Amino acid sequence: MARILNGRAAAAAVRREVSAEVMKLKSRGVSVRLDVILVGEDPASVTYVRNKQNDCAEVGIESQLHSFPEDVPQKELEVLVERLNEDDAVSGFFIQLPLPRGLDAQPLISRIDPDKDVDGLSPLSAGRLAVGLPSLLPCTPHGVIQLLKRNGIELEGREAVVLGRSNLVGKPLAQLLLRENATVTVCHSRTQNLAEVASRADILVAAIGQREMIGGDHVKEGAVVIDVGIHRTQDGITGDVRFGEVEPKASAISPVPGGVGPMTRAMLLYNALEAARR
Ligand code: NDP
Repeated sequence: MARILNGRAAAAAVRREVSAEVMKLKSRGVSVRLDVILVGEDPASVTYVRNKQNDCAEVGIESQLHSFPEDVPQKELEVLVERLNEDDAVSGFFIQLPLPRGLDAQPLISRIDPDKDVDGLSPLSAGRLAVGLPSLLPCTPHGVIQLLKRNGIELEGREAVVLGRSNLVGKPLAQLLLRENATVTVCHSRTQNLAEVASRADILVAAIGQREMIGGDHVKEGAVVIDVGIHRTQDGITGDVRFGEVEPKASAISPVPGGVGPMTRAMLLYNALEAARR
């Protein structure tokens, strides 16, 4: 029986810590403010933004929403990014992705001041992470590391295999695991013998966006398995891992829902606090 890595509990602990620090800053006259840029009315994006703003309110972080119709000119968003970069009242901000068709997210993200880049997705933030400079860390990979550490899982010297190489999850997670002195292998859609490589892992992280693709044959006996995947089905949310098949082999496993998802949300709040400290 694997230990269940409870992301809801770990995220609640992060929120409590952030809340206490936000209060301390407030008592010194510093307020923490996280602004959000939302373009269009995609229902999922609207819900995510509302949740993130509610999370902020819960820990005493102020939040201002900048919303635009989906036909807003790219230039107008560029001007807003520059304005938020320069506004000392704004600790940090992010652009809710994906943007509607016709808008290009990358040049906007590239303009975000790395000290305010609470999503940690700008090339400057990614570069800082890669060369070991202090930076705001992308929320999902940082959430994975926190979930592991807060459950006392040793990373140093262990064999970590990351399935997925996106800029959002796989690549920064590989960097963070390296920083923790794990031995890291990154797999992707062209990897040959995926199951063989994956089953070398002491720590296996699935971030491939393929519903329940990872099964018992991908997992070494006693491995720690982290499932980053999120797939909405008629029966609820499921991940990249076939939980029922993997759980008996693993020593610890993160569930979906209730694993990495809540950690991602909590790390955004952590980043807002970090940004305010800068
Ligand atoms: P992307 O689609 O951007 O990246 C998927 C990666 O997986 C790519 O590197 C791709 O390889 C690789 N891949 C795809 N299919 C296979 C395969 N059959 N075998 C091996 N590798 C494969 O996804 P994201 O990184 O953005 O997200 C991954 C998952 O995590 C999704 O389910 C997403 O919903 C979820 N997610 C969850 C979050 C959370 O908070 N829990 C936050 C963010 C994402 P290649 O590069 O060769 O194409």
